[in-house]
Amino acid sequence: MFITKTALPSYPIEVGHPDISHLKNGNTGVDYVHRLTSGAPGPVILLNALMHGNEYSGAVVLSNLLKKGLKPTCGTWILSFSNVAAFQTFDPKDPDKSRFLDMDMNRVWTEEKLSAKSDIREVKRARNLIPFIKEADFFLDLHSMHEACEPMMVTGTTQRAYEFAKRMGYPRVLMRDEGHADGKRLIDYGDFVNPEKAAIGLLIEAGHHWSVKSVENSEHTLYRFLATTGTLSNHSIPPQYQEKVSQVEVSVSNRCVAQTQDVQFAQNWLGMEVIKEKETIIASDSGEPVKTPFSNCVLVMPSLRHVMPGVTFVRLGTLKEI
Ligand SMILES: [Zn+2]
Repeated sequence: MFITKTALPSYPIEVGHPDISHLKNGNTGVDYVHRLTSGAPGPVILLNALMHGNEYSGAVVLSNLLKKGLKPTCGTWILSFSNVAAFQTFDPKDPDKSRFLDMDMNRVWTEEKLSAKSDIREVKRARNLIPFIKEADFFLDLHSMHEACEPMMVTGTTQRAYEFAKRMGYPRVLMRDEGHADGKRLIDYGDFVNPEKAAIGLLIEAGHHWSVKSVENSEHTLYRFLATTGTLSNHSIPPQYQEKVSQVEVSVSNRCVAQTQDVQFAQNWLGMEVIKEKETIIASDSGEPVKTPFSNCVLVMPSLRHVMPGVTFVRLGTLKEI
């Protein structure tokens, strides 16, 4: 008995859609972008929420940071809320729909797409954010997940981002991958992946969208991230976020990309399941079996929610203690 898209569980909206309209006029001349400066020399930290309009736990956390009045001890923090236009279309009756308006904003990050003449609203907004991205020495992109999965830090392709996430000591799972088949993420763009540069880009997948847990995980990650950049004083970190945990690494080696819209799962996968046997059927794509290509295969962020031809519906990896 396979699980189809229509049989997926629907999750409660534990955290209501936050009002961030008061954050529109920041101090940068670009809507929903705020700059907090220390006056002392130091790195530039970019913190971003709402890359996907329906993933608002990061927006809750960044607006709390602004409300608290915290400032960097040195250098600069830039707080951006990227796809606010999609976020504003959020409808609790169809909460996944507000992920983007015209195009997934975390797939537009190539010079080719950004410089082409385009009416795509996500591309236009992305262009407005480029000056801030170019400034950043450290970048944290706050996301959440389609399924109630354990949080994970996506460290992308560079060793330096992975090492930084290890120094953070949170979350438990560090995921190394090459990105998506259908376009580049911001952590895979510009200086963040330039071997000649030192800029670091990380992406946190904090837990299920709209869950209380996802807000807590985002906040924990944010504090550990800022502390590790050396721009947050120790006494500003709430005691519950001082904690470091022992970590594991999941290296993604394979992506299962949908050939058709008719992808079904062999079980209701939530992610981080370890499938012992090689050649185990985990899904079907228009009736064709999709099998694990190696033993002890970890399923990373499986989801049928946005499945269509060309979209990754699960990544496969191997797990090791670090
Ligand atoms: Zn996302």
